[in-house]
Amino acid sequence: MKLGRREFIKLSATATAVTAFAGLGFNMQPSTAKAMLLKTHWAKETTSICAFCSVGCGLLVHTDTSGSGRIINLEGNPDHPINEGALCSKGAALAQTVETENRITTVKYRAPYTDQWVEAPWSWALQRIAQRVKETRDETFVESNGNGQVVNRTEGIAHVGSAEIDNEENWCLQSIMRSLGLIYIEHQARI
Ligand code: SF4
Repeated sequence: MKLGRREFIKLSATATAVTAFAGLGFNMQPSTAKAMLLKTHWAKETTSICAFCSVGCGLLVHTDTSGSGRIINLEGNPDHPINEGALCSKGAALAQTVETENRITTVKYRAPYTDQWVEAPWSWALQRIAQRVKETRDETFVESNGNGQVVNRTEGIAHVGSAEIDNEENWCLQSIMRSLGLIYIEHQARI
C-alpha cells in the first residue's frame, strides 16, 4: 500500500495507541492497525497561500462538493516548504474571513462631509469607481520621465490590498492595477 505523509502519521499514531492500551491489560483483539480515511476525503482540496502576513504559509482548503461550495476545512499544507503543515492562530482561523455571518456583502457609501454610511447598489458603486479611476488616470498619467524615457505610469492612484481576501484575489487585483499603470501598490502583509 502506498502511503502519503498524512496517512503515514495517522497509521503510526494508531499503532502507538494500540501498543499503549494493550500494555495496560486491555483486550485489543482484533488489533489490526489500518490507515483511516480522512473525513474530508470526499471534499475538493485546493492549495492556497495565507494572505495575513508576509510569511506566506501554504494552505489546504477543502470545499463542499455537494452543492454549497462552502469551505468545510482549512489546514496547513504539510508539503509546503515554509510552514510544513503548521499554521499560527490567525492562519488556522482564516476560513472565518469567508464563512463568517458578519462579512459585509453590500456596498456601504459615506458621502463627502458626512459621518453617515448608507447602503448603495453594486451597479451604482462599480460605475462610480470606474468613472473616478478613468478620470484620475487620465489626469495623472505620465508617459515619460525627465530623461525622456518612456515610463507609462499612473501616479495619482494608490492601491492597498487586503488580508481579508484570498491569495488568488490579491493576484487578480495587482494584475489589474499594474495594467492601469499603478506603481504605488501595497498589501497589508508587506506594511
Ligand atoms: S499562518 Fe500565520 S504566520 Fe503563516 S502566513 Fe498566515 S498569519 Fe502569517
